[in-house]
Amino acid sequence: MDNNDVKLSNIDTDNNTEQEVESRHFIERIIEDDLASGKTKKVITRFPPEPNGYLHIGHAKSIILNYGMALKYNGQFNLRFDDTNPSAEKVEYVESIIEDVKWLGADFEDRLFFASDYFEEMYQAAIKLIKKGKAYVCDLSAEEIREYRGTLKEPGKNSPYRDRSVEENLRLFEAMRNGEFEDGSKVLRAKIDMSSPNMNMRDPVIYRIARMSHHRTGDDWCIYPMYDFAHPIEDAIEGITHSLCTLEFEDHRPLYDWVVNEVGYENPPQQIEFAKLYLTNVITGKRYIRKLVEDGIVDGWDDPRLVTISALRRRGVTPSAIKMFMELVGISKVDSSVDYAMFEYCIREDLKLSEPRIMAVLDPIKLVITNYPEGQIEYLEAPNNPENPDLGTRKIPFGRELYIDREDFMIEPPKKYFRLYPGNEVRLMNAYFVTCTNYITDEDGNVIEIHATYDPETKSGSGFTGRKVKGTIQWVEASTAVNAEVRLFDNLVDEEKGVYNEDGSVNVNPNSLVVHDNAYLEVNAANAKPFDRFQFLRQGYFCVDYKDTREDKLVFNRIVSLKSSYKLPKK
Ligand code: ATP
Ligand code: MG
Repeated sequence: MDNNDVKLSNIDTDNNTEQEVESRHFIERIIEDDLASGKTKKVITRFPPEPNGYLHIGHAKSIILNYGMALKYNGQFNLRFDDTNPSAEKVEYVESIIEDVKWLGADFEDRLFFASDYFEEMYQAAIKLIKKGKAYVCDLSAEEIREYRGTLKEPGKNSPYRDRSVEENLRLFEAMRNGEFEDGSKVLRAKIDMSSPNMNMRDPVIYRIARMSHHRTGDDWCIYPMYDFAHPIEDAIEGITHSLCTLEFEDHRPLYDWVVNEVGYENPPQQIEFAKLYLTNVITGKRYIRKLVEDGIVDGWDDPRLVTISALRRRGVTPSAIKMFMELVGISKVDSSVDYAMFEYCIREDLKLSEPRIMAVLDPIKLVITNYPEGQIEYLEAPNNPENPDLGTRKIPFGRELYIDREDFMIEPPKKYFRLYPGNEVRLMNAYFVTCTNYITDEDGNVIEIHATYDPETKSGSGFTGRKVKGTIQWVEASTAVNAEVRLFDNLVDEEKGVYNEDGSVNVNPNSLVVHDNAYLEVNAANAKPFDRFQFLRQGYFCVDYKDTREDKLVFNRIVSLKSSYKLPKK
């Protein structure tokens, strides 16, 4: 543990020691070289989501990187919606993305942009290419274009429309815009090289005809630019200096450079690729998450079992835990999958000192202290967080009738079971030692009540040193306890068991959600509000659900359990 603490404290060092210079990642080194050579005057980065779903933990990596670079080098950070394909885009997604980016602390100030605002400029850029003889209108069908493209082993063939005159191309392209042709009947293509070893350079399509209503431009356009043409132009218009994207775009970089150079932007942006974040046992990828939502397997985009940003927020994870995790993951050029347990480690570390601890009983069974006076309530004092005295202390009511967790009692315990069983003595956390004297069962043999006696000498904090007990359990006083619903989560999928079934459906872990709808919390949680967090002693960190909590019933989500076998890897 000490080792881990040392490593974490290294992360935030501000001093320019040699060690820190060495730990710079490759993007920081590129940016510093560009600043030193004068190629870059001011660093400008962007996060360019397509509003076709909610953001997930992978996007957080990109946001934190892009924003982090702008912040570190006194530059600027833009949030720009890459809304050039209206088919799956929605205002709902735009709004959720803005909320998520703000919540993560990536402050884009007034630098909020939409690619759709540049449609006219993109159209003019296409005309410029046509005039230079660098783009042509092609009448081949989508399938023919694919056939003509060739394969990795064989060069492609030129389209029969490739040598149309500039005048004809200008006329046809304008007619495309004016809606004179059917959807899919013509496209505009860049004229590059049909025998390029890079398939992306084989006369890629840069505009298509599609009568789709856009969530911002309505029906103004019936032609839409393709990603590989639009994205470099968006970056260039905004003066982006370092366009950071994920590795799958590496093969697109020659086309990115071709577009910004042929359209003629001065100081064109440069694209730099880094590895995506993949996590074990979770589903990332908007496409897959959307399917889970649409199939009703999860309860919306913010179901706490998902790793969307809105789900993490709802569950109670903080932005600082996410940032700590991204620091540990680092930035590299090699795809790899990160153990989900490493993320949980960061969540625990982040909440350890800041959150108060209370007692909660998820599956209650009554414990009657038969030698405690009836009707009497006394108040015991306990620290709110033994690891952080700044959080102070609180008073916990104790009385004759308590609740304890069903799993903390057994009639016939196995070896090494140190909790309550007939004849055994345990410590009630923050209170007294009690000895089980009896239990009552219903007709079916289920235990419905446990009886015990307490030893007044053993009061917690009294300095009692008479004897030791091996088990300590939590409890709540019955008459003052707060009834609540508590939801426990487990991974939605298990990679070892296979993420998908044979029919392609998701192999959902049936225990991914366990609901305790009759939990009891100590009275100190009575006034908890949405997003308040606690450690429930022995059980984990919990957060008040903002969606389902009602006036008369608190609902808690478990953020993370307490146990972890995870150890930070040695660097
Ligand atoms: P998904 O694959 O989940 O559908 P996407 O890449 O299609 O995501 P975009 O909205 O296009 O989603 O992504 C916005 C930015 O986030 C892009 O620059 C993309 O490279 C980056 N990004 C997406 N997924 C990850 C990830 N897992 N790790 C890091 N960055 C990511
Ligand atoms: Mg995408």
